[in-house]
Amino acid sequence: MSRRRQSRWAFWKFVHKRNPIECWPWFGALSADGHPRFGAEGTQWWAHRLAYESAHGEIGPWNFNNEVMHLCGNARCCNPAHLKLGTRAENLAQEGAAGKLSRIGTRNGNSRLSIEQVEAIRKDTRSSRVVAAEYGLEKTQVLRIRRGAQWKYME
Ligand SMILES: [Zn+2]
Repeated sequence: MSRRRQSRWAFWKFVHKRNPIECWPWFGALSADGHPRFGAEGTQWWAHRLAYESAHGEIGPWNFNNEVMHLCGNARCCNPAHLKLGTRAENLAQEGAAGKLSRIGTRNGNSRLSIEQVEAIRKDTRSSRVVAAEYGLEKTQVLRIRRGAQWKYME
């Protein structure tokens, strides 16, 4: 079967599926602005939109009121649990929140956390107390990061 004729749902072969709370990175083609792009059925698809549809049903073509946002701030992520349907305005606000997330550590003194460090904290199987000490955070901050609820605490 030629690549052009393959099903859009073949996009999953370029998604590194990890556990349900982690990001599932896309390792296929990217658009100029870094979003997952997949050619199938004679056209181009956004892989993260297909990932969202696989969990929630069809959402139709993109428009400014129909945009799949990355709650994790990782444009290459295709974990449906990290995706939310929203508007362009909500998406821009979300990206601002993701930028603030990377500065969460500054509230507690000397540490700064990158998105990668936040992911590492979520993946770390050690106790929150041990992880907090390692990153110079309060245990409650680690618990918030692990719950994925830290957005609510950022101004
Ligand atoms: Zn993600």
